[in-house]
Amino acid sequence: MKILHNVRVLQISAGQLHTIDKAAITWQGQQLMYVGTRADMPRPDVGAEWIDGCNALATPALIDCHTHVVFGGNRSEEFAARLSGMSYSDIAKAGGGIRTTVRHTRAATEAQLLQSVMQRAQAMRRGGVGTLEIKSGYGLDLATETKMLRVATQLSAQTGMRVRRTYLGLHAFVAEEWPSRTAMLEAVCNSWLPQLHAQGLVDAVDAFQENIAFNADEVRQFFAAAKALRIPVKLHAEQLSNTQGAALAAAFGALSADHLEYLDDSGIAAMQAAGTVAVLLPSAFYCLRESQLPPIAKLRAAGVPMAIATDCNPGTAPNTSLRLAMHQACTLFGLSIPEALAGVTDIAARALGLVDTGQLRAGFCADIALWQVDHAAEIVYWLGDLPAQQLYVAGRKCEV
Ligand SMILES: [Zn+2]
Repeated sequence: MKILHNVRVLQISAGQLHTIDKAAITWQGQQLMYVGTRADMPRPDVGAEWIDGCNALATPALIDCHTHVVFGGNRSEEFAARLSGMSYSDIAKAGGGIRTTVRHTRAATEAQLLQSVMQRAQAMRRGGVGTLEIKSGYGLDLATETKMLRVATQLSAQTGMRVRRTYLGLHAFVAEEWPSRTAMLEAVCNSWLPQLHAQGLVDAVDAFQENIAFNADEVRQFFAAAKALRIPVKLHAEQLSNTQGAALAAAFGALSADHLEYLDDSGIAAMQAAGTVAVLLPSAFYCLRESQLPPIAKLRAAGVPMAIATDCNPGTAPNTSLRLAMHQACTLFGLSIPEALAGVTDIAARALGLVDTGQLRAGFCADIALWQVDHAAEIVYWLGDLPAQQLYVAGRKCEV
């Protein structure tokens, strides 16, 4: 048994923050046993390990529920091109964008990919992230998609972070490599997905439904294949235009629909009815200098849960700071501090289908971040480095 004492515990519920002063947290193995005041703590086991929290603020370890953090190369040259006036769509149509990263990711060895993602994951972990979702999607062939998902699996063992792996089967279509779009769909749905699933590499699937990517019929076919294997689905929806992606995702009981700048009322209603989480990705909005805001007030009014993630990727959000994404969600999208904190803990867990993390409550996983701050708002407020003082994932201490 471990006993973290001399801490303040942040609890987030119903849009309110509440701090328990002079608190203690105990856990056995991976599981939290007690969270409350030190005075009310049950008598501990003899031989329990006592850990001094130094009066830090304890929050659930943060959860980054949408990333593309495994990739080869980077896209700093396209960043320069965008600064000189090219749009994301222009770059994609000229054969750049995702396809630049595909070339580099195919060329990299598994060891090289692991080495590069380790640097980014260590920055995330230093920022208090204990659980990380990682999408494939820069392979667009079976060998490279497998390589990416294997690297994501290894990253968990290397960092102590919990990693959820998402097969992003429909990310981009490379016309020169296929006789037709139908042929690609056939391979992805009936061959690659079942093979990746059989290897235990897939926790969820995802697709990019957009005019420059895949249409609703194609996404529906892919989701049906996933559903037949009982794999949960997620969708990049309504990022650059409204293609009714969120409603399609909701019809498949999606864990989340992500981006959502162009989401309309019918999409909100469908997400609300299905319990689909809205994952907001303000770093991509910022990098693309978008002006269309996601309909935050309507999502809030409808009671659609809102998560926040970095979308860490080489093209549109080269961001390893979940705290920066929280700050952007507040300043650019108008979220409150309690919404931002819930959006990277409890609600982010729901976006990944995780039922036992994201809250500091007995019975949940011992996933804890300690912060040397006076007030919880500081976790969102500070731009730049604010490392977690200590981080525990599934009861085990991680380096920060
Ligand atoms: Zn994404």
